[in-house]
Amino acid sequence: MSDRAILHSDANGFYASVEMVLNPELRGKAVAVCGSIKERHGIVLAKSELAKKAGIKTGMVAWQARQLCPELIVVPPHYDYYVKFSKMIQKIYARYTDEIEPFGMDECWLDVTRSPMKPMEIAECIRREVREELALTVSIGVSFNKVFAKLASDMKKPDAITEITRENFKEKVWPLPCSDMIYCGRATTNKLESIGVQTIGQLANLNPDVLKHKLGKNGVMLWQFANGLDTSRVAHESYSAPAKSVGHGITCTEDLNTLDEAQKIIYALSQDIGAKLRQMGLRAKGVHLSVRDNELHTVGWQTLLKTPTQDELDIANEAFAILLSNYRWEKNVRSLTVTAINLEKVEEPIQLSLFDTPANEKREILTRTIDEIHELYGKHSLVPALILDEKKMPRGVCDELVMPGWMYV
Ligand SMILES: [Mg+2]
Repeated sequence: MSDRAILHSDANGFYASVEMVLNPELRGKAVAVCGSIKERHGIVLAKSELAKKAGIKTGMVAWQARQLCPELIVVPPHYDYYVKFSKMIQKIYARYTDEIEPFGMDECWLDVTRSPMKPMEIAECIRREVREELALTVSIGVSFNKVFAKLASDMKKPDAITEITRENFKEKVWPLPCSDMIYCGRATTNKLESIGVQTIGQLANLNPDVLKHKLGKNGVMLWQFANGLDTSRVAHESYSAPAKSVGHGITCTEDLNTLDEAQKIIYALSQDIGAKLRQMGLRAKGVHLSVRDNELHTVGWQTLLKTPTQDELDIANEAFAILLSNYRWEKNVRSLTVTAINLEKVEEPIQLSLFDTPANEKREILTRTIDEIHELYGKHSLVPALILDEKKMPRGVCDELVMPGWMYV
């Protein structure tokens, strides 16, 4: 069997780069995309090359970043645009293969084994087309498996291509620290270090039985990865890795003192979740609510829904019911996060059963219309009547980052 040809393409500084396309004045400047810039506690989600050179790191708190780099331009995230650009990049990939597996918003694996073109040629075309057509850059790794392709895309950036072959992987991959490898997180890295394993080469040359003893199945998997034995497949374009949950949370600048206030926030949060579920063609079989009180203790509960839903009202009602029956309100509330869980794909439009009342039908049409209005005029063009005139919404409220839930698949 001949080798596979796998590409891993990673858009460089994706959020910050899209911001520069949207606003060219930002080009050549130190830019950081931060959640909730009104608050001192916004977190750096992405940074431009210059900001990176100034020492700005993802995850840094905005005020620290500003201290480090006084000329830093901080912009809020525009997720709608990131999704659009992500799709446009994927359209370029689709010129070469239909086996495209997204990993987050800015990375994809491509299987180009069946293409008549050489993998390096394809990588070169993609790199050029993304730059010329979208004014973004990607770094691409080319290899015979997914793990090495991903490693390779990290080796040279921005706007670069790296190839890892059967012939050169020992020389290129083995000197790297284990933590460079996907699925080797901090806990695993620590365990490996505790048995004297620092590099991927050391890992590769260990007896897999030792790893099995120390790290279980995961250890054996990493040993296989290190030896170039990863055989996992690139998913087909039509397959989207199921999102595990879609969540949205908010930290308020003032405490929520009453059930009524909390209810309004829950309805506002659920509205976004409903829209997201419909966009992704998913529905929720359960709802999770987490509550952080003003001493920053977090508690959470979840329940299963009687009928799976993508309707924000169902989700909001459930989340509010959870709050009512679980939160004892000994302390006032600072943050709320509503998450739609146990998601399933909606293969077909929801079938209306004989027992569905016309009211249900109307609600579906209304929901779809609301989505369209949001798309045309922005998210805040329409809000449920329940949250109008509320002083704490939306002015005094800042978005809390619920990144993974928002990553579209
Ligand atoms: Mg990236």
